[in-house]
Amino acid sequence: MAAGGDGDSYTGQPPYGPMTAPLQGKDLPSLRYALGAAPNIPRDGGWSKEATVRNFPVSEKLAGVLMQLDPGALRELHWHANAAEWAYVIKGRCRVTTIDPQGCCEIADFGEGDVWYFPRGHGHSIQGIGTEPCEFILIFDNGYFSEFGTFSITDWIGHVPPDVLAKNFAVPASTFADFPKQEVYLVKGPVPPPLPDNPTPGSLNPGALTHRFRLLAQKPQEFPGGTMRIVSQKEFPISATMTGALLRIKPGGLRELHWHPNADEWQYYIKGKARMTVFGSGGRARTEEYGPGDVGYAPQGFGHYIENIGDDELELVLAFNDGEYQSISATAWFAANPAELLATNFGVPTEAFANFPKDETPMPE
Ligand code: MN
Ligand code: MN
Repeated sequence: MAAGGDGDSYTGQPPYGPMTAPLQGKDLPSLRYALGAAPNIPRDGGWSKEATVRNFPVSEKLAGVLMQLDPGALRELHWHANAAEWAYVIKGRCRVTTIDPQGCCEIADFGEGDVWYFPRGHGHSIQGIGTEPCEFILIFDNGYFSEFGTFSITDWIGHVPPDVLAKNFAVPASTFADFPKQEVYLVKGPVPPPLPDNPTPGSLNPGALTHRFRLLAQKPQEFPGGTMRIVSQKEFPISATMTGALLRIKPGGLRELHWHPNADEWQYYIKGKARMTVFGSGGRARTEEYGPGDVGYAPQGFGHYIENIGDDELELVLAFNDGEYQSISATAWFAANPAELLATNFGVPTEAFANFPKDETPMPE
């Protein structure tokens, strides 16, 4: 029997819990992917690049795309069959349109620090507005999301016989003569006019739940080592399958030792320099350093911390594949147990624990 098991049924072989194939080896694979340093895939009006299981095999539960749109450039109407989409706007402004199964459609503008969430399968588009390029990080709750999972309107319409389109839309078949025959993905266009301050009576049907959450604008939780803004379904009701967070950690500050019982964590580093050790059980741990443009991954249940090892503030965005935020810290766990138990557990005198914190501090200095 392999060491570390909790009972006779443990074989060390899959399936045993949340760990997926790349995480079942004797050693932990790298949990860092240099997305920012990867080549941009140029598109008409912007660029994109992605981190999926294809180039970052550990991230089977979450994937990401970094994208930039020039003003007017349109990420065309599309949906994702196998993933919800969560996004954080890093810079610039964009406009989003959505449609849900009730036929409700929200059109909203997004700026730096804003978050959107599109439920799996809901139709949407994204267009750069304003005068500067708009950059955002998209995070999907399926590491395989891009493998035949993204459905674009041009690709679809281009593959339906024109006489069927004519019947469907009640227009002449010749209407479709110059439509694209394959996926456009991204296309340049004019910057749309501002949304009306006072919409025409009867012109809106946005649905009960908004797709926009102003994360950076929220009052953060403040700690000695930095600030944290969390957006779960509690704060952002439409976000049923994902939670996000914005962390700012001071130089020397630490996001303390913790784990997430219910979710994997996908990280995108915006600014600063970090160190993370991910503990994967069975004597396995991996310490790596992260900088701007890097993606980090902490699988469900794996212990980790994030330390700012640079001279400047560290800023990163997190996304979890569960709408409820759950976290357990080592500090809280120590404080929840008698010092005598801890002394026995670690084989040291009880006094060793005399000055341990009585309360957790999610971000100590
Ligand atoms: Mn999308
Ligand atoms: Mn975490």
